Amino acid sequence: MPLLASRAQRVDASGIRRVFELASKMKNPINLSIGQPDFDVPEPVKQAACDAIHQGHNAYTPTNGIIGLREQLIEEEKDFTGRHYELGQMLITSGVSGGLFLSLLALVDSGDEVIIPDPYFVMYKHLVNMNGGKAVYLDTYESSFTIDPDQLEALITPKTKLLLLNSPGNPSGRIISNDDLQKIAAICDRHGILIISDEIYRHFAYTEIKSIAEFTDNCLVLGGHSKSFGMTGWRLGYAVGPLQIIEAMAMLQQYSYVCAPSVAQQAALACPNVDISQHIDDYREKRDLMYNALKDQFEVGPADGAFYLFARAPEGYDGDSFVETAIKNNVLIIPGSVFSERNSHFRVCYTVANDTLLQGAEKLNRLATN
Ligand code: PLP
Repeated sequence: MPLLASRAQRVDASGIRRVFELASKMKNPINLSIGQPDFDVPEPVKQAACDAIHQGHNAYTPTNGIIGLREQLIEEEKDFTGRHYELGQMLITSGVSGGLFLSLLALVDSGDEVIIPDPYFVMYKHLVNMNGGKAVYLDTYESSFTIDPDQLEALITPKTKLLLLNSPGNPSGRIISNDDLQKIAAICDRHGILIISDEIYRHFAYTEIKSIAEFTDNCLVLGGHSKSFGMTGWRLGYAVGPLQIIEAMAMLQQYSYVCAPSVAQQAALACPNVDISQHIDDYREKRDLMYNALKDQFEVGPADGAFYLFARAPEGYDGDSFVETAIKNNVLIIPGSVFSERNSHFRVCYTVANDTLLQGAEKLNRLATN
């Protein structure tokens, strides 16, 4: 029996495993759990990947990524935030997951406190725990999933090292307002706290959106192609921010991932030629469709972006028991407890056909009124 390291034992994935177990018994479920777009990689990007393979881009790339892609992403950041980064400040990673893994490895020491707005993306808590840090949760349920700056400041201690921000958020779909971003940046600057801003859903914004990088230098932005270009399996993302942190992450990447997949990097050079606005419009419509279909029976949080709705389980249920009942009725959704210290909500992903959404909503509504 191998003796597992304590860091592996600090990760508890039992909640999500239980959902997968239940889901594996379902036949033809109404699947509102997926967490990825339903569109395929755009044709020009696929073609660029095929060309890259045939042209021999099959070897390791430099650890930091190919220069053309780093330059391209620096331009995109400039367009989005107005901020200019030097080449050394841009690292290509294996998805945003790679950026999260390397940044927390580079930054979190044993006992360091990391503030995580709750609900949160599943990986955050586990990565902080794995690195011996202490996750400090900022409960956002009472503030409609935005961050109350006063509440944030009250959680800061001398051990606070990082704030993990995610806007638009998974699972809430919430976009943090510009005013709040500005206040959050000022608080973090005042206390010397670095912000890691996970902006993987940046393109899926149905209202105005800015990056917190507009308001502070003290910020590492993580972005990626997985969701915007339907490339979840291609494992491509980037980290951009303070040089010292990027250099440390690159060093750790050298001895772990080595580099992001070469073919995916080459193919991503074609991404700026692709217009994804129709997909965003489609998802805005799906958001409206599903929100309107659920809002009379459920308390559904405001969802300004990404492709999720986060709803409170109805009377008589907590999040887990409602999801179990939904699964027994052939609707697959994810319990809020997977994303939270609370067990009161469930997540719906609306990247499926409209008739599937309506079927799912009808069943969920029926369960809520029974
Ligand atoms: N960050 C958030 C908020 C996510 O929802 C996801 C995927 O669901 C990721 C990061 C991971 O993205 P990637 O596929 O780029 O590793």
